[in-house]
Amino acid sequence: LASVSACSGTSFPKRSATSAGPRPQARRLAAEMNLSLHAVLIGEDARASIEDLSGFGVATVHLVRHERLQEYAPRAWARSLDAVVETLAPKVVMAAGLERGTEVMAHLAAMRNLPMAANCTEVHPGDSFLVTRLRWGGSLLEEARLEGSVKLLTVAPHVTSSEGTGSAREPTVEEVTPTLADEDLLVRVSGHVGSTVGKVRLPDARVVVGGGRGVGGADGFRVLEELASLLGGTVGVSRVVTSAGWRPHSDQIGQTGTRIAPEVYIACGISGAIQHMVGCKGAKRILAINSDPDAPIVTKADFAVIGDLHAIVPAVIDEIKRSGLRAV
Ligand code: FAD
Repeated sequence: LASVSACSGTSFPKRSATSAGPRPQARRLAAEMNLSLHAVLIGEDARASIEDLSGFGVATVHLVRHERLQEYAPRAWARSLDAVVETLAPKVVMAAGLERGTEVMAHLAAMRNLPMAANCTEVHPGDSFLVTRLRWGGSLLEEARLEGSVKLLTVAPHVTSSEGTGSAREPTVEEVTPTLADEDLLVRVSGHVGSTVGKVRLPDARVVVGGGRGVGGADGFRVLEELASLLGGTVGVSRVVTSAGWRPHSDQIGQTGTRIAPEVYIACGISGAIQHMVGCKGAKRILAINSDPDAPIVTKADFAVIGDLHAIVPAVIDEIKRSGLRAV
């Protein structure tokens, strides 16, 4: 989480719809607005990251420490950030547009009764900011004006790279101890379950075998696991599957799940709702296996097999084994 302090105001620059505009980088904004750059790190474990920040133009690091901040707790993190905002009076507060960054910033916005722009891809500073941001899971870009005495925004994933300044200057470190109430810790991480140990990670997989409602239940995924394993890939699922508790959320592909970019995505018993497709549009090839020839995914797929997946997937596995095909 980075905050930018002090102030300047300019009018909006002219921009063309096609040009790649100014990226939402805290360092660039700080320089453009003649402000100093501060970073907020939360929890004792984050201390190790201070060194990494030295090459990124950060003047001061605010290290938030509290005995109840051992694990992630969205409202408690926002409360911590709020304490820094209270003393620093920054002009801009930015966070990465990942699940945690967006959640914490939304809490901060609610606490301060301020607007917040999520998933920005471009930012033009001014009295109000002109921002471009991803909407609908990245299927459209929205231009918006961001108002508020403090501009709160998150940066869409992959729109900017973390290039250092080349000069390594140690930032000043200031410790912050926020006041936390029990209600700030009502939602918190209470344990960790290592479900992906030893598996190919969904975002990195070269082959993903997807399963949806058509798989019929948790047991139905055994055959998809076998196919994925034969092809050196992993299994992904639709939201219906995670909502039904057949598979964990970490397996979900889509707008509220993981974005995948495999060589091949084999979607079995998945209809192809827009919220699912935004998660797999990075796939080079899509093969749909579906009993309905009019399913949306069939029209978007490169190849489709129309029929019952419970007959087709085992037949494909048998054929792979018979022919001795190896993983790609
Ligand atoms: P269905 O739409 O019910 O489709 C089942 C398919 O299986 C059908 O096409 C059917 O023809 C086929 N089928 C049935 N039996 C067989 C069989 N024996 N053999 C072959 N084919 C068969 N969804 C996601 O996936 N990811 C997300 O991140 C996500 N985020 C969402 C966010 C929001 C805000 C909202 C509102 C929705 C979101 N959804 C998401 C849900 C999404 O809209 C769909 O409801 C969901 O993707 C449908 O899952 P499905 O394709 O498995 O089920």
